[in-house]
Amino acid sequence: MTTSFEQGINTLKRVIDAPIASYFSSCTRCGLCAQACVFYTETGDAKYTPIRRVEPMRRIWEQEYTAVGKLKKLIGLSKTVTEQELEDTVELAFESCTTCGRCSMVCPVGNDIVYMIRRMREGLTAAGLGPKELRAAAVRTLETGSVMGFPMKTLEAQVRAAEEETGIKINIDEPNVDYLLLLSSAEVMQFNEIIAALAQIFQEAKVTWTLSSTAHEAGNPGMHLGSSEIEAAMINKIVEAAEELNIKNVISPECGHAYMAIRWEGPNVIGRPYPFKVYHIIEVLDKLREEGRMNTECCDAERITFHDPCQAARRGGVNEPQRNLLNMVSSNFIEMEDRKACNWCCGGGGGVNSIEKSEPLMDKVFHRKRAQIEMLDVTTVVTMCATCRNALEEGAEKNGMDIRVMGLTEVLANRLLKEKKS
Ligand code: SF4
Ligand code: SF4
Repeated sequence: MTTSFEQGINTLKRVIDAPIASYFSSCTRCGLCAQACVFYTETGDAKYTPIRRVEPMRRIWEQEYTAVGKLKKLIGLSKTVTEQELEDTVELAFESCTTCGRCSMVCPVGNDIVYMIRRMREGLTAAGLGPKELRAAAVRTLETGSVMGFPMKTLEAQVRAAEEETGIKINIDEPNVDYLLLLSSAEVMQFNEIIAALAQIFQEAKVTWTLSSTAHEAGNPGMHLGSSEIEAAMINKIVEAAEELNIKNVISPECGHAYMAIRWEGPNVIGRPYPFKVYHIIEVLDKLREEGRMNTECCDAERITFHDPCQAARRGGVNEPQRNLLNMVSSNFIEMEDRKACNWCCGGGGGVNSIEKSEPLMDKVFHRKRAQIEMLDVTTVVTMCATCRNALEEGAEKNGMDIRVMGLTEVLANRLLKEKKS
């Protein structure tokens, strides 16, 4: 019988593909990736050097797939990967990496280190070492259809509340409309004002849309865990719902990793193209602005800045729509020093914020974000990802920062509403 450890090693052997082999063979050990990683810059600890996080995978690659490595193993110059080593790698691949992609961006030889770390996670999960919080989230999602484990009636209650607040009917399972809207669990349970906000914006813009009773969750814990099966199961639910309702456009909400999963990884993960297009909600709102379907009178003068979520901005390429929209409603939008593709991550993505053991480290790395914000002397930080919003709110509270954190959709809806009332 194969042990969990052996399953992990076998998985690591299997996931070493041509790109990963070329990344290992081209790494010059220059260390530039370390300077880009907030976990290294804020701790100074060399173990957080991004490429070092996949050292067990590197040795397996060398020993299994290179002549020199095979020889080194034979004469005892290269140790085989041990169970303890895999256990120690959990901290590096899961607990202290947000898969933010800053390391991949700066690597001079073009190594996609995030891709390697994601495959490392896959091996660790196969070895039974995936963090318990991420495994529990995956089980909850598969069983209930939501990352937080709430039943459909919870979403229905939030929809009813939004309908009462706005007087607008919100569709569930309505076929042939313009858009199928996905929501993250955090948006349903914590930031539910987004539902009313979108209902109002879409009503003004004459956009038709619906939620789905079978595929409302945008979050994808399979992606964090490194489980292609779970990632594919979640994506398939969305694809099936969109096909059944005959909808040609799917909206990924204010959630960074959800956007990466459904927009960029989905077709490869499920092995077929989509019969629909996927947009981040902020791309949709910017399109409405461009078409003159979402007009506001400029502007609020309050000093605000924007935090670019790593998955949507750096990795997903959504960089200008948020700026177009903020400049539409604010006369005092101030950019952070490092922004767009260069932005520093909030410290909570990639599943880190749900892992209890990561909390002290998250607190430490938030100092970078705090410094970025405090030098601007702003009253509000706007973002477009529920995970970032949580990390920013928690970080601000723990550090006694006098700022408000808001989602961009909510900012826009507030502005529209203000105009309607005046
Ligand atoms: S930046 Fe690239 S080449 Fe340099 S150490 Fe990191 S992975 Fe290797
Ligand atoms: S993806 Fe981000 S957090 Fe992870 S190693 Fe790279 S820079 Fe560090």
